Formats: sequence, C-alpha cells, structure tokens
Amino acid sequence: MAGKLFIVGFGPGDKKHMTLRCLEVIEQSDVIVGYELYVDLIREMLENKEVYTTQMQEEIDRVKTAIQKALEGHAVSLVSSGDSGVYGMAGLVFEVLSEMRAQGLPVDIEVEVIPGVTAATAVAALLGAPLMHDFATISLSDLLTPWPVILKRIEAAAAADFVIVIYNPKSSRRVTQVVEARDVILKYRHKSTPVGIVRKAYREGQEVIVTDLEHMLNHKIDMLTTIVVGNSSTFVFNGRMVTPRGYSGKYELLKNDRVGEETIV
Ligand code: SAH
Repeated sequence: MAGKLFIVGFGPGDKKHMTLRCLEVIEQSDVIVGYELYVDLIREMLENKEVYTTQMQEEIDRVKTAIQKALEGHAVSLVSSGDSGVYGMAGLVFEVLSEMRAQGLPVDIEVEVIPGVTAATAVAALLGAPLMHDFATISLSDLLTPWPVILKRIEAAAAADFVIVIYNPKSSRRVTQVVEARDVILKYRHKSTPVGIVRKAYREGQEVIVTDLEHMLNHKIDMLTTIVVGNSSTFVFNGRMVTPRGYSGKYELLKNDRVGEETIV
C-alpha cells in the first residue's frame, strides 16, 4: 500500500514556533528526510525513526528518497525550515512527481503540505512590526535564478516602495550580491531608511540588529540571516522597526472616535 508524504516546514528553529500540526505529523511519521542542519534542530523528536539527512545542494536526492519511502508504504516527513512552500521543498516534490508520471513511473502517494512560520514573519516579530504594509520577498541566491532577473525584481520592488525581505543574502561563495542589491535600493530610498538584520532567529546565538541602508553592510550577514529593508515610511521606535499601516493619516491614533475605512485588527 502506498504511504503518505508530509512536506512540513518547522518554523525558524525552536520547538515553540512549530505548529501543532507540524509536531503531530513528525510524531506520526516513521521516516524523516531533511537537510542535515535542520534535522539536527529537531533531533530529540526523532528517536526510533528512520532518518535520512543530506547536504545543502542535494535537494533532488532528498525529494526522491522521500517519494521512494512513501511509495514503499511509509509515512514520511520531508522537513524544511520555515514554511516548506517558501523557498522550500514543496514545489520540488510536485515537480519530481509530475516528471515521474510523465515517464510512466508510479506516483500513487498522498501528499500533504503543512505550513510553517517563514523567516520573513519570524524576523519581523523580532524586529518590531516592519511588514505592516505591502512587502516583497526576494532571494539573492542565483544558483537557480539568473542574477539579472533577481536584480530586476529588487529594482522593481524598490521603485514601488515595497518593504523588501531578503532571503539567502550571502554565503561564503556568494558575497557581492548583497552589496549590489543595497546599491540598487539606494537609487530609490534614502540612506537613513531603516534596515533590520536578523541572524539565527529563534535559534541559539540569535542576533537582532536595527540599522539603516547606509550602515547595513557593516554587520555580519550570512546564510543564516534575513534582512528587512523598510519602505519610505518605516521608522524606528525604541529600537524597534515599524512600518505604519496607512500612509496619509487616515486614522488618528489618539482620538477616541477614530473610525477608518477598514478596521485595524
Ligand atoms: N523555507 C524557509 C526559507 C529557506 S531559504 C522559510 O520559509 O523560512 C533559507 C533562508 O531563509 C536563509 O538564507 C535565511 O535568509 C532565511 N532563514 C531561515 N531560517 C532563518 C532564521 N532562523 N533566522 C534568520 N533567517 C532565516
């Protein structure tokens, strides 16, 4: 009998920020597949389970192993950090399954995608409230996306005054992209625009920095970092980064009879 494949994002790191459903499906699975670093974060939950870990760039192998184990009848959790559908493994599972079907291979497994807390909202919570208005997430990883495409999107998001959340900002081999990205954003935003830099959100060694576009590159940025660049209205209050919900004072904060066009909840 074919098994079931759970594609599960377990949030930024600590157990308290995993969803109940995430904990439940990991509990119910007899096989766990994931990137080594992520599996280590949940190691204590994995006793008596078959665990397959792979290195960073072996995503396709990881997906194939998970599908194979599900086809053999196991309940399998393929784990990613954050949300598995945000720069995670969910899409790749469906791509591999559709390719397998095209080749006439069996694909008779049930797949369930379980949402998780993605880095954007995890780091936003630590920074204050920077995502209260429209925002764009952009990954600076050019392994799968050509750099000119990424740069074009950064430019469009900067020009349209989106708050910009930058995933995968820099790795040991990829060091220039974050500099170039910052320079493009500076064409449209003042150098004093608030920038939040969060490393290892909700993990041991967490670092939260609120700085600005001018100084952001003076801080440590790596693959465990997410950067939030404010829009033209973002301000800093008591060390927290805040993007106002509205632009033009449609609501007056300290009046009792404040009624907006929309209720703010
Ligand atoms: N699926 C994940 C994203 C994977 S891409 C999610 O939804 O969060 C990997 C990138 O996510 C990292 O380079 C970093 O930019 C960001 N990231 C993931 N976990 C993080 C954490 N705990 N703290 C800061 N950034 C994190």
